Amino acid sequence: MPQFDYDLFTIGAGSGGVRASRIAAGHGARVAVAEEYRIGGTCVIRGCVPKKMLVYASAFAEELGHAGRFGWHVEGLRFDWDALRDFVASDVDRLEGLYGQTLASNKVDSFLTRATVTGPNSVALADGRSFTARHILIAVGATPVMPAIPGGDLCISSNEMFQLARFPQRLVVVGGGYIALEFAGIFNALGAEVTVVNRSDTLLRGYDRLCVERLTAIMAARGVRFVLDAHLHRVERLNDGSLLAEVGGERIGADQVLVATGRQPNTAGLGLETAGIAPGVRGELAVDALGATSCPSIHAVGDVTDRVQLTPVAIREGHALADTLFGAQPRSVAHDLVPSAVFTQPPLAAVGLTEEEARALHPAVKVYSSDFRPMKNLYSPLAERGLYRMVVEEGSGKVLGLHMLGPDSPEILQAAAIAIRAGLTKADFDATFALHPSMAEELVLMR
Ligand code: FAD
Repeated sequence: MPQFDYDLFTIGAGSGGVRASRIAAGHGARVAVAEEYRIGGTCVIRGCVPKKMLVYASAFAEELGHAGRFGWHVEGLRFDWDALRDFVASDVDRLEGLYGQTLASNKVDSFLTRATVTGPNSVALADGRSFTARHILIAVGATPVMPAIPGGDLCISSNEMFQLARFPQRLVVVGGGYIALEFAGIFNALGAEVTVVNRSDTLLRGYDRLCVERLTAIMAARGVRFVLDAHLHRVERLNDGSLLAEVGGERIGADQVLVATGRQPNTAGLGLETAGIAPGVRGELAVDALGATSCPSIHAVGDVTDRVQLTPVAIREGHALADTLFGAQPRSVAHDLVPSAVFTQPPLAAVGLTEEEARALHPAVKVYSSDFRPMKNLYSPLAERGLYRMVVEEGSGKVLGLHMLGPDSPEILQAAAIAIRAGLTKADFDATFALHPSMAEELVLMR
């Protein structure tokens, strides 16, 4: 008789939990996963995937807006939020089904209920069942932080943005990170009046300052209003059902107030104290290089560890953990050179060090750039310019960071990230023929 009900019990069927469970089962482990909301987790259900579908939807506004110059005349154009919302929801349902099938076909038992830890090797389900496991994986992700202000309960988080019963004609977005700016860009393009409120004047912290300045100038020119160095003090509902947001000394009328000021690890009430684990101040779980918490039988991956809150990172951590525990291949995950993007209009994409980070770490750094007008924009009323910046270590010529603002930059950056991960130099980029005419050719033409 095995000593435990399962070899691995995973709490949370999101990006990290599903990958770890599937790979562990592939290594022959007996695996179960508990999910309190929907299989697939934040990325699939209310993050990257539905967000990207809204980004695609918003791109139609731009393309169709310029179509006349290219000879296309579209009569009777109108945007239907209900149709978009329902289409996105149906695709999310489809993906949720696929994730469930993946778990089932890998012989992972799924429990669609909340789970909590009751000791180093035991979990309890909200439906009253309990199980023992040789290893427990905490892959519970993070949750939006909502403001403790009068009327804070009238605000919504990114979770609700995908299910809005009505299109918000006036949207206030509180926050200056990628989620805030992405929703601002999407709803601005779809026709809403959007105001971004941020407590400081720094938007998109961690991204290249010049690219961010260019992006915010473009967003402002496209109609997004920025209210910076300002706090949301209170929100009230008016008799007509709309909202009034008090921001600094200003009162802004809104149909929705989206708060996107950060996400905190989902460890509240998880019972970790029964295993002697004390989360950090934000609720995050500290883990060693191989993903173990301070309790050797309990591990954590993904957003709950509050390192890099991105799906590919959670997936890689989950995969490495399963290989470590059940594949006899102990593996840690390096968290440097993680490419990321902000899916605004135009998008921003980056990998590696910013100029400031590089100057703090390396004695001599040179920045090359290309400030260009994308050809597509030459034929449109948009005078927007793209900006690529490459941070290079002087002497070795090694590329330390790449920052790109312009159409399709996430698609282009993914390929460039391979070269940077491989340690290639500015000279290697220069030696590469340009592919003309393209925007990507600016990568090998930077001065
Ligand atoms: P999650 O995917 O959040 O999964 C955790 C799961 O655990 C959830 O399903 C939750 O319901 C479940 N759970 C929690 N507590 C319990 C419990 N006690 N019992 C049972 N189940 C529980 N990342 C990108 O890489 N690119 C993007 O473009 C991108 N866009 C995003 C847009 C938005 C709006 C948001 C919110 C996030 C976005 N992210 C993006 C981040 C990405 O979604 C997360 O980094 C990723 O989902 C983290 O995976 P995870 O496995 O750690 O957690």
